[in-house]
Amino acid sequence: MMKDDCIFCKLANNIIPTNSIYEDEDFKVILDANPVNAGHSLILPKNHADDLFQMEEEKVAKAYALAKKVAEAVKKATGCEGVNILQNNGAAAGQTVNHYHVHIIPRYKGDKLVMTFPQSTVTEEETKEVKEKLSALL
Ligand code: 5GP
Ligand code: ZN
Repeated sequence: MMKDDCIFCKLANNIIPTNSIYEDEDFKVILDANPVNAGHSLILPKNHADDLFQMEEEKVAKAYALAKKVAEAVKKATGCEGVNILQNNGAAAGQTVNHYHVHIIPRYKGDKLVMTFPQSTVTEEETKEVKEKLSALL
């Protein structure tokens, strides 16, 4: 199902033309309009889901299998040194388009994308508490 006024619904369902590199029953893969490096691709489901939490588990499995296929093609086509698979959920996590998508980003040493994990400030007590909560939920 498409959502009104969702740009990625329009791109995924051919309402607006875009640089598409692959399409199947469930997904369209396009080139990002503002790529980190040439070949930066986005996997878009044809049915609208805001984010991971609204995706059916089976579709997530398919999206991730497709991410492997796209990553292999991106690596071969660009000769990149590495690949990031990135999937943001929520504004706090950097999501700017509220239609689930998976980034496949070709990477080179010293390129302009900086992703670092800062030194942790999580205490042992917080780790213990969250471990108990998570273990009970899973
Ligand atoms: P997010 O930050 O939500 O994970 O990523 C959104 C991505 O979508 C960004 O990398 C942005 O460049 C890309 N994007 C936003 N609008 C368009 C568009 O209209 N066409 C294409 N091809 N990419 C888009
Ligand atoms: Zn949508």
